[in-house]
Amino acid sequence: MMSDTRTLQQSRAPRSEGQWALGELTPLNNSERIKAEGGLLDARDRIEQIYALGGYESIPPDDLRGRMRWAGVHVQRRPGIPGGKTATLAPEDLEDELLLMRVRIDGGALSSEQARVLGAISERFAKNTADLSDRQCVQLHGVRVEDTPEIWRLMDSVGLTTAGSCADTPAVVLGSPLAGVAADEIIDGTPAIDEIVRRFVGTEEFSNLPRKVKSAISGAPGGDVVHEINDVSFVGVMHPDHGPGFDLWVGGGLSKAPKLAQRLGAWVPLPEVPEVWQAINALFRDYGYRRNRNRARMKFLISDWGVERFRDVLETEYLNRPLLDGPPPERAKIQRDYIGVHPQRDGLFYVGAAPTVGRLSGTILQRVADLSEKYGSGRIRLTIHQKLVILDVPGERTDELAAELLKLGLYVNPSPFRRSTMACTGVQYCKSAIAETKGRAAALIDELERRLPNLDVSITISVNGCPSSCARFQIADIGLRGVLVAGDDGTQIEGFQVLLGGSLGHRSAFGRAPRGLRLAADDLPDYVERLINRYLAQRDDSESFAEWTSRADEEALR
Ligand code: SF4
Repeated sequence: MMSDTRTLQQSRAPRSEGQWALGELTPLNNSERIKAEGGLLDARDRIEQIYALGGYESIPPDDLRGRMRWAGVHVQRRPGIPGGKTATLAPEDLEDELLLMRVRIDGGALSSEQARVLGAISERFAKNTADLSDRQCVQLHGVRVEDTPEIWRLMDSVGLTTAGSCADTPAVVLGSPLAGVAADEIIDGTPAIDEIVRRFVGTEEFSNLPRKVKSAISGAPGGDVVHEINDVSFVGVMHPDHGPGFDLWVGGGLSKAPKLAQRLGAWVPLPEVPEVWQAINALFRDYGYRRNRNRARMKFLISDWGVERFRDVLETEYLNRPLLDGPPPERAKIQRDYIGVHPQRDGLFYVGAAPTVGRLSGTILQRVADLSEKYGSGRIRLTIHQKLVILDVPGERTDELAAELLKLGLYVNPSPFRRSTMACTGVQYCKSAIAETKGRAAALIDELERRLPNLDVSITISVNGCPSSCARFQIADIGLRGVLVAGDDGTQIEGFQVLLGGSLGHRSAFGRAPRGLRLAADDLPDYVERLINRYLAQRDDSESFAEWTSRADEEALR
């Protein structure tokens, strides 16, 4: 019997992961089938020429829930459906007829002209929504398909695009908001970002990846692109023989199976960044897993292969040359958040302001455009913290600008809570959400400002509506993940699982979940107040919140 089993196991062929490079081309799931049938890059043409005329009802399901994402258009949740219904309703019952458009602001670089046009689009066509994402995108909600041709015409006129912003393609390329002006910058990665966008966004070569590729390029050492959690990152480093260039990282990501990126040990000079970026995307396209979408991100391939094999395949099959070895970048001692008034290296200043949980309106975006021209040079930058920065402000005008921003609800000197809280889209618009996020996070900030007005340290809070971690709950001091919990009468209500002490930089670690701790959403303010008070009472000298959580008794964290 034993020998029969062994024979069976030995003769069974390994299960296909759908890796194209191994000849496994048969689509193994519905998303792969839709992609294999084509029509990805011309999704925008069909939207403009057919669905904009025929209306929402004219959109076939495979385009509505599949290919439209290649044009940066996504279905959003119908208003008023609670989180408890997410897993039980059919897609057509969960979806709204109004749509989301995600505008990619690669490198976070937005001109005043672009901001003004985007703001006007938002007012006219998107119910005055303009949410800043934590990946340097602007999200417009509540868009009618009929209005998309005019929206794209306006975006095209100022060089804005939604191409591939929601699809299995290269996602927005993160860049430092301070590229070109940071006093401590090693090298400015902007030329590489610009070339990558020009050559590869919206093109056939990377129109069908196994999943999206999140990439980042920053030559500043301030931890400004969360390089530890991107699929591919280029991080500024000084090579002892070759000077300034980039250290290459791969395989990071959060969501349900979080992994920190690893170094390939390779140094890449600025002119070669686009070529190496292209080679990594091509490798992932060909070798990435396409069976199970939950395992289709680059981090799983690298986990299975290891970085040595990944680098070897990259060099021998894609670059046809070895990469130069290089040193690791300096570990960021602080995670810069850009809020406040700070000097640039050219004698001017940058002014960073916090909208509450990333929520702007089109009207405010247009006022920000005006202010960036009045006080700066019209250069606006978006950060990975759902915040914005105005560059190039003379020192004597920063106070006046800060006062004008405050009138718009943009805080240059915010409380620690308003400064360091992020929230994902949540139940208001997101189909996957289990919990409401933006509103709860804003209310939490108000409450904590009232209860703890003298907090003297930064404590990051991240409110997420589901395990996808779009606001990065695993790397926040207090990470909250939407779940359903039992209410007092036994019915299911919205709540949160809690992770504590996550961080990146010199102490990279995912948050720790106190065993069995799940909060009803209404209990959030009491819990966070209690937790912070315990930290303040128990901390040693300059011990950070994350350090305290790693040594605190489980009971103290409840
Ligand atoms: Fe939606 Fe979940 Fe992402 Fe929040 S974390 S935006 S609920 S998918």
